[in-house]
This record gives sequence, structure tokens and C-alpha cells, in this order.
Amino acid sequence: MNTKPQADDARPGRAPAGGQRRMIDSHGRTIRDLRLSITDRCNFRCVYCMDPGVRFMPSEELLQPREMARLAGLCVGLGVEKVRITGGEPTLHPALEEIIRGVAATGVGDIAMTTNGWRIGGDECRAWKAAGLTRLTVSIDSLNEEKFSTLTRSSTGAADVVRSIDCARGAGFDRVKANAVVVRGLNEDEVPALAGLARTLGIEMRFIEYMPLDSGRAWEPGLLVPAAEIIERINAVTPLREVGRDEPSSTALVYEFADGAPGRIGVIAPVTAPFCGACARLRITADGKVRPCLFSLKEWDLRPLLRGGAGDREIEEFLIDVTWTKQAGHGISASGFEQPARSMSAIGG
Ligand code: SAM
Ligand code: SF4
Repeated sequence: MNTKPQADDARPGRAPAGGQRRMIDSHGRTIRDLRLSITDRCNFRCVYCMDPGVRFMPSEELLQPREMARLAGLCVGLGVEKVRITGGEPTLHPALEEIIRGVAATGVGDIAMTTNGWRIGGDECRAWKAAGLTRLTVSIDSLNEEKFSTLTRSSTGAADVVRSIDCARGAGFDRVKANAVVVRGLNEDEVPALAGLARTLGIEMRFIEYMPLDSGRAWEPGLLVPAAEIIERINAVTPLREVGRDEPSSTALVYEFADGAPGRIGVIAPVTAPFCGACARLRITADGKVRPCLFSLKEWDLRPLLRGGAGDREIEEFLIDVTWTKQAGHGISASGFEQPARSMSAIGG
């Protein structure tokens, strides 16, 4: 029974007191995975994410590295087992190493980062690894330079990003992954070539369905390439064998190559096969808002607590109460679906 009293605008109602101090929502899901966005700034303007005219948040509104570390520590104390550092483009943050060190100091064993791969050389990889980063995911939507440029609207080339992925592998990160958002008419024909990259480099190439989270609000169902089609396109060239999800809460359904070649394929199908029922994620934005769901229409501000002298216990209670409000699912395909005001880059993917 939901015994939660009415929330006001700044504070959620109280979650029922449980025996364990964990972040559990009213649908019974427990938070184990924190997505920590450290900046909303980016040097790319990917068509599915950021409009060229996007405006960034004022710097003074962004969390300081010590505030991020404190929040990460409190979340770890409440049962978080994985932290993913994201953005915007996290490698643009001048204090990235300090942030990684702060997260690592919480004792969490799994610290991943998602990057567009514009500046990953051996030196950076070694520094991030020494600071405590354990895994890297690099986004790459096409191997064709013209398409890559159309998709990312950046001066970085696809070949530069492939080199970055290679550097990440060379630095010895566990399970290097690559992400591609597939957009109808732009890169669905690149899917087999990207799958080939997984084979060549022995990485996990993950294809993501385009979600309505772009700041330009250009998303429409016709631009979606369903996961089933993505798999068909790969199967037609290199047959796959389904493996399943690494963990029940994993976003990706994973496949191996049927011929035993190295590398794996993952498909993330939030639109055609939502995985909300097993979601274990909570997001904190670069300006300190907690978002129980990527598609939350309501977010909860941690800065008044952080900057108003709140104790750890008070912030933990706030996180527990916010988690209780986590919606059952995103409802992208439901009538009346409303796209959140923030885009993916301002939430943290
Ligand atoms: N800038 C970094 C990058 O691009 O990898 C990290 C932040 S980005 C927001 C995180 C992930 O979200 C990327 O892999 C990106 O491709 C994905 N993404 C962005 N907009 C998306 C959308 N509308 N639908 C699905 N995935 C999206
Ligand atoms: Fe930047 Fe990443 Fe969004 Fe592309 S997907 S615009 S690289 S934040």
C-alpha cells in the first residue's frame, strides 16, 4: 500500500519506513545504479541529442566535485553498486580526475564513464584508470566520415573515435563498450559495419533505439529503427546468438557472434521493448537535481540541502523519499506521453 503523504514542490512525501536503509520505489524496485552527470556542456551537437542553439546552465548552478563525491558516497551507503559518470561530455570537465577520485573514495567497485571519444589518448586513459575509473563506453554512430559528421555535427572524425576506443582497450579497461544511436535515414545502413568493429576490436557494440529526449524535439516514431530490425540487419551479414541480459536490470540484451568471433552486440530497446520493470537506476544532474526516471517530469533539487548545511542523514532521507516517487515506466508509446523539458545531454545518459 502506498502510504506516502502528499508531496510539496520542493520535497517529496515520506517513503514508508523500512527495516533497511535502501532506496526502494513504490513499485518494489531497489536502486543500485547511479548515473552522475557532471556537466551539461558538450563539443558535439548530435542530431538526436542536442540542438545547435542549445543553452548551457550557468556554471554557478553546477555541482562542485566535492558535492558530487558527497552525494555518490551517500548513494553508495544506501546500496548503490555502480556509478556511471556522464554528461554532456564528461571529458570536458576540468576536474574530471578529481571527480573520479572522489567517487572511487566511496568504495564503490564499478565506476564507468560514457564519452563521445573526442579526446582519449593513452595518457588520459591511464590517468582516469589510476584515479579509479574501471570501465569506459565510447559513443560512435557511424564509421563513414560523412555520416559521422552529419550525425555529430562535430569536427572530430569517426577514425579519431575508433582510435579512442583502441586506446581504451590498450589501457586495459574491463569490457570496453561502444554506443550507437540508430536514426532512420541517417545510419541504419551502418549497423553491419559497426557490428564488424565489435568483431575486429573485441568490444561490445551497443545499438540504442532513438528516444524522445532530443533538445530540438525532432523525434517522431518514423525516425525510430526498432531493435528487431537492427538484429536482422546484423544477422543478414554475421549471424548472432542471443545471450541474454548481464543482469536483470541491464539495459542491453546481449548477443554473441554465432561463429565464436570475439566481441559482443548489445541492443537497447527502450521504445519497442521497455525494461522499466527491472530498472535500478537513479540520476543526478550536473545542477544537482535527482531524477528517479530518465522521463521524469518532476525532479528534486538537492542543492538547497547541500548548500544549506543539511546533514548526511537528512540528504539520505531525501534520496529515499525521492526514489519512492519513481514512476512505473516511461510510457513513450502511451497516448498523452509528455517529453521531459530536459534533453538527454542535460539529464545524463
Ligand atoms: N557525451 C557522451 C556521449 O555521447 O557518449 C555522454 C553523454 S550522452 C547523453 C550518453 C549516451 O546517450 C550516448 O551514448 C548517446 O548516444 C545517448 N543518447 C543521446 N541522446 C539520445 C536519444 N535521444 N536517444 C537515445 N540515446 C541517446
Ligand atoms: Fe554531446 Fe553526447 Fe549529446 Fe552527442 S550524445 S551531443 S556527444 S552529450
